[in-house]
Amino acid sequence: MTDREQLDAEFGSEMEIVLQTKQPLTRSVQLMQRAGAKMGLKQDEINELISPQQLIVFRIPCKILGKVVNFWGCLALHNSARGPFKGGIRLAPDITIWETTELARLMTLKCAACDVEFGGGKTGIRVDMAAMYKLFGRQPRDLEFEKIISLDAVEYYSQSFRDVFSSHIYVPAPDMGTGPDEMAFIYNETLDPASVTGKPEGTHGWLPGRRESTGVGCAYIACRAMCELLDRDPEGATVAIQGFGNVGRPLAQSLVEEGVKVVGITDLYGGVYNADGLDIEGLLEHYAEHATVGGFAGGRPLSNEELFALQVDVLIPAAAGDVITEQTAHDINARCIVEAANMPTTVGGMEVLKERQIQVVPDILANAGGVIASMLEYSSSLSAIKPSKEEVLATVCKKIEENFELAVQMARSEQISIVEAAVGIATKRVYDVMKHRRML
Ligand code: NAD
Repeated sequence: MTDREQLDAEFGSEMEIVLQTKQPLTRSVQLMQRAGAKMGLKQDEINELISPQQLIVFRIPCKILGKVVNFWGCLALHNSARGPFKGGIRLAPDITIWETTELARLMTLKCAACDVEFGGGKTGIRVDMAAMYKLFGRQPRDLEFEKIISLDAVEYYSQSFRDVFSSHIYVPAPDMGTGPDEMAFIYNETLDPASVTGKPEGTHGWLPGRRESTGVGCAYIACRAMCELLDRDPEGATVAIQGFGNVGRPLAQSLVEEGVKVVGITDLYGGVYNADGLDIEGLLEHYAEHATVGGFAGGRPLSNEELFALQVDVLIPAAAGDVITEQTAHDINARCIVEAANMPTTVGGMEVLKERQIQVVPDILANAGGVIASMLEYSSSLSAIKPSKEEVLATVCKKIEENFELAVQMARSEQISIVEAAVGIATKRVYDVMKHRRML
């Protein structure tokens, strides 16, 4: 069997297995079920809120560096009651249709929780860089090679879905494994600045502040959480962060600007700890050269396990999902968790944290900066009036703060967690519009 045939066989069978599985009881499904029951909704109404409107599974043959490689992926269009389906394009080796659906559902909740006029969608494309290195006989890590793979995958994908973007049915953005460069390929395809957000600086319809919006919004709400939930001044407070990517880097920079001490950061390839606070500017220079925080001279090495156990005011998972589970939540020594990543805490993990009185600021508030900025990018692309970076970041912080305050008030008055309160507010907002539009 050739490498190509082997890859096809693996991807083909995987796709068939996934298509035959039942929708799992994921975090957002469980939280929306609870919220719906609390609102007194009928089970069929709750099912409508939870179910995706459309799931498109696709397979894209791409010609990359002279070889034809097949990627498969999924476009999950969850709910468009409040506006066009909105959500990032994720490239990862472990994409499944249910994970993509879950992320699309999360976008519905996030847009509603922060009162952004979009619905929820998501694209997952299964790109396994380790398999690519093997297939092309290259040695990891070769960032130029990885860029060629991701750009080609997105270019072929955007050719297949041009009409969906051009008609603003689904407006994509960057997510794990993609960034502004990949979004430029979508713009190339549609030549419509409102068809995609997260476009690179200078491209028609780009938005100042969009790149750092998620990290800045998350840093802002982490500081609000220190004051409101921990009764602690951000100046001198300690934070540990998992992930130093599109979100993690501006997040760390923003926190340091507020006087916070970022004492530990890890990524997929290493980690670093400094009890006096890391020199983030120095770390960014190190990262620009090595593409990892590992090996930075301004601290000692740190593993992911150690990072999660650090005694800090706030722990910010800003990398992958499901990293705080029923098992690992017992080892956490932070006073509060701010979810910069999407769904880093499982429902079981949340229960343990609740018992241990460790509050969680949910992803649908904490990392909503990107989609709030996307709303401004979309509307400024339609109107050709561009706000300044300061205006964009001020709107991001204001919108997150307003909705965080609502969730905190509801959590206090109803004796529930902030996560449950935020999901409750979002579910009601979606439900109300579905009722008005006779979608229910
Ligand atoms: P990215 O690909 O730019 O960076 C991810 C970072 O996490 C990298 O430093 C990587 O090395 C690290 N990482 C990944 N898996 C890890 C693991 N298992 N252990 C330790 N480190 C790991 O991605 P990003 O855009 O920064 O997104 C991070 C998270 O934030 C994702 O959950 C994403 O869905 C979510 N998010 C991103 C945005 C955005 O605007 N980019 C918006 C909302 C939510």
